[in-house]
Amino acid sequence: MRFKIKKKKQVDKLQIIPLGGIGEIGKNMFVVNYNGEIIILDAGLAFPEDEMLGVDIVIPDISYLLENKDKIKAIFLSHGHEDHIGALPYILPKINAPIYGTKLTIGLLRAKLEEFGLQRSAELYEVRADEEVKIGSFRIQSFTTNHSIPDSVGFVLKTPAGNVVYTSDFKFDHTPVQGKGTDFHSLAEIGKEGVLVALADSTNAERSGYTCSEFKVGETLKEIFLAAEGRIIIATFASNIYRIQQIVNATNFSGRKLAVDGRSMVNVFEIAQKLGYLRISPFTLIDVEEVKNFSDNRVVVLTTGTQGEPMSALARLSSSTHRKLEIVPSDTVVIAANPIPGNEKLVSRTIDNLFRQGAKVIYEAITGVHVSGHGNQEELKLMLSLLRPKYLIPVHGEYRQLIHHAELAEKMGINKENILIVDNGTVMEFSSDQGKILSSVPAGGIFVDGLGVGDVGNVVLRDRQVLSRDGIFIVVITVDNKARIVSGPDVFSRGFVYVKESEELLEEARDNVAKVLENLTQKKISDWATIKNNVRDSVSKFLWEKTGRRPMILPIIMEISPEKTRHG
Ligand SMILES: [Zn+2]
Ligand SMILES: [Zn+2]
Repeated sequence: MRFKIKKKKQVDKLQIIPLGGIGEIGKNMFVVNYNGEIIILDAGLAFPEDEMLGVDIVIPDISYLLENKDKIKAIFLSHGHEDHIGALPYILPKINAPIYGTKLTIGLLRAKLEEFGLQRSAELYEVRADEEVKIGSFRIQSFTTNHSIPDSVGFVLKTPAGNVVYTSDFKFDHTPVQGKGTDFHSLAEIGKEGVLVALADSTNAERSGYTCSEFKVGETLKEIFLAAEGRIIIATFASNIYRIQQIVNATNFSGRKLAVDGRSMVNVFEIAQKLGYLRISPFTLIDVEEVKNFSDNRVVVLTTGTQGEPMSALARLSSSTHRKLEIVPSDTVVIAANPIPGNEKLVSRTIDNLFRQGAKVIYEAITGVHVSGHGNQEELKLMLSLLRPKYLIPVHGEYRQLIHHAELAEKMGINKENILIVDNGTVMEFSSDQGKILSSVPAGGIFVDGLGVGDVGNVVLRDRQVLSRDGIFIVVITVDNKARIVSGPDVFSRGFVYVKESEELLEEARDNVAKVLENLTQKKISDWATIKNNVRDSVSKFLWEKTGRRPMILPIIMEISPEKTRHG
């Protein structure tokens, strides 16, 4: 996918730089820079991979934005999912630009910023879908899309150099649960006006046909709720307000009451109700504490934990550690979501445990309790034929999904050279007749661990990996101010061998260190770094030979003052 070399006298400079969201599902963030004016599209987080030990979340590297701080005009948010807004609490203290989003997106963001004490400093603006906002040289228009959260929009950024469309996450749902659904008319108009570049969702590019309508889930839920003889305990994504509305509807339909459980579910439920995205009669809603006052076939409990998260309400229920509820054999547990790739093990453990408690468990898409929020191949094609972009950048997908999306686009007649499979950080420049890859900017992941943002880097991570694999072996040497050994060497270990049964090994290791030290003393070597390196190398080799393990070896040299030596 090469580009033509462009002639120089170009005045307009339209650059697009993905800072996240390419080759991954998560931390979506795209920068559009027109003649030195920057608009940021989304600022999401990613969840850590298994090998990122102890890392809570991952956010995009914003070095490029920090270097171009004064050029940033605004941040536009497409919808309220974590992979699109989750990085903002960490980024806003560094780049405080005005933020635009639809009502629910801003509502969810506001609640998030309050948690971080940032609500006062943030400049938040609500935009209506289809509204056009003028910022600098940009005219930015949003268009309604369908997704698994209400108030989702895509954006068209109109610049003198050409129009850029960001579809963000979308599907085409002709029978949406709420709202008017995708605005085909606007999309067609945008296409007619001309689209220079489109950045489009690739999540389901491997799947043929169309994604099912959310409406179907509602029908299935009604059947399940009616048929169940005992309580219904149902878990779904807290942000999937359409799904929650359908659960409310099925609750009413089956003459039951609804209790809401789990912190994030309660939070989103309240926000959605307050902002008018969720309709439920106060007579339907009961407290979790009240569940026991109703007969089992009159109750639905809505909860979190579809991904098997160990601390979630569903996982606690499955392991009988929930504070307020206990599974009984007449319960029907419905998991109205699919495991996100990587979470399969945790989910199946939860399902196994629920079965062990005697519950009936309904899960997986095959039962019709879940549909994807992303469009399949036919929908991706439909989007392309509406927009008819000159250049396509497949985004929001693992590498193979980007490739599948590119193949579809090629079949649709988009020039192969105009389909850009790039990396996070790639700087692309477009003009009305040409596009090219210029260079790249830093765009790795920044790790957030507890309160630390970015202080856990590759070195820390490598240490954690070593520690988690083979444990730690500590050698303590006490010397006086003339570098003479006054006590030790002493050895300690954790997570390496079971000390009580390995005394001989530890004794030999101690001798090994003693020999190294003797050797160094004879050579009159007394600088600490050399001592530490020699001890580390020798012990490491010894332990590897004896055990086939490579624990982290930590030599510690302590110097004590002569007086102390004398007296103690
Ligand atoms: Zn989404
Ligand atoms: Zn997304």
